[in-house]
Amino acid sequence: MEKKTIKKNDIYTIEIEDLSTDGSGIGKVDGYTLFVKDALIGDTAEVKVIKTKKHYGYGRLMRIITPSPDRVEAPCPHARSCGGCQIQHLSYERQLAFKENKVRNLLSRVGHVEDYVMHPIIGMEHPYYYRNKAQFPVGLGKDGQIVTGFYAGHTHVIVDSAHCCIQAPVNEQLLVIVKKWMTDHDIAPYDETTHKGLVRHILTRVGFKTKEIMVCLIINGKKLPHSESLVKALREIPGMTSISFNINQDKTNVILGSKVVTLWGQDYITDYIGDVRYQISPLSFYQVNPVQTEKLYGAALKFANPGPNDVIWDLYCGIGTISLFMAKKAKQVYGVEIVPQAIDDAKRNAAINDIHNAEFYVGKAEEVLPQTYEREHIHADIIVVDPPRKGCDESLLACITQMQPKRVVYVSCDPATLARDLKYLEERDYKVKEVQCVDMFGHSVHVETVVLLERK
Ligand code: SAH
Repeated sequence: MEKKTIKKNDIYTIEIEDLSTDGSGIGKVDGYTLFVKDALIGDTAEVKVIKTKKHYGYGRLMRIITPSPDRVEAPCPHARSCGGCQIQHLSYERQLAFKENKVRNLLSRVGHVEDYVMHPIIGMEHPYYYRNKAQFPVGLGKDGQIVTGFYAGHTHVIVDSAHCCIQAPVNEQLLVIVKKWMTDHDIAPYDETTHKGLVRHILTRVGFKTKEIMVCLIINGKKLPHSESLVKALREIPGMTSISFNINQDKTNVILGSKVVTLWGQDYITDYIGDVRYQISPLSFYQVNPVQTEKLYGAALKFANPGPNDVIWDLYCGIGTISLFMAKKAKQVYGVEIVPQAIDDAKRNAAINDIHNAEFYVGKAEEVLPQTYEREHIHADIIVVDPPRKGCDESLLACITQMQPKRVVYVSCDPATLARDLKYLEERDYKVKEVQCVDMFGHSVHVETVVLLERK
């Protein structure tokens, strides 16, 4: 029998049989694979082909004929158009199973990692309104009104919506105040195409434990006119702690510029993870889900299991969050991080917590660790790594195996590069013992994983 030729704009009814790592449904037409955004395993759906390649193509979900039993109504009306959430229409329970499976499959397929304890994924108790940081773009709507909300997926079209199901609820009030202030004083939003206008983004941060609030306007200018009335209105919000603007006059997609001017209050807000206090300024990196971060670091600490004589190296340490979380249980902690400002924060955070056994180095982990090892024959009992998505440089992994710590704890935000790096370590003296997934980003396809390796 002749095979069908699948062409763009063809419409088919297909069964969705699998979910790709980026959350698209996968179904087949006569053996040809179609990836369909917003479709779920168990859906029977009408799909329009929008792009074809030799061995697979992409389809648009036109109509669901029979819904998957795992399908739920997405609480956010913008869930499908917004770039932020990919799987809000999947029940939270199944989201967790999807993430855990993704990690298990990648560890096996890419890493050939077997025979370890997989702890049940730690999900959120309340998978909504969990983010402590938001960056809202500001623009002009069709009728010349100020709009702010979020970008539609893969575009810079702003969907005007102050409500977001994963952001801190107070943002809604903050956006109303800023919009009213801009309208009252005729302050223009920034226009990317003409590079004119003033207000580009509104950055907000909320301390979940302290209830402190930060608002920072990112502007295409050096001064903020009528700032007194903005400050007056924002100060009415209980918890307001820091009001500032950030200067970004570049033609760029990068949101923040390098200079921050405080208009009122402190230059930072404070929050806690466990009983460690952190000062967070507009420019510092800080985990966006503080409730789950505590569980993530708890798992890392449990796996590291430091004793009072242990020396820990915390590589890719950011503002020293993991280092300080572990310092109280260890003899000495060393952190390494590439961003100098983050290291300034790390040192200050050590000081405000009265922690004196933590030291920090600026530089690339793959350079600082081998060089210091060569020069000073430093020793590590435990090494923690928490790299960005691309994972660890091979030269760093090589140095870790030379240093022979008794345990390595790998914290990862990308299970594919994690699996690759675990394979390297398992081929050289280390064995994966325990794996713990933590859901930090509900309704997205992302998953955080902590792995314990022990020296064989
Ligand atoms: N452990 C921290 C930060 C993790 S994010 C926390 O939990 O908050 C990863 C960090 O690695 C970022 O702070 C990034 O700036 C840093 N980084 C990226 N490449 C690096 C490299 N080659 N060497 C050291 N740090 C690096």
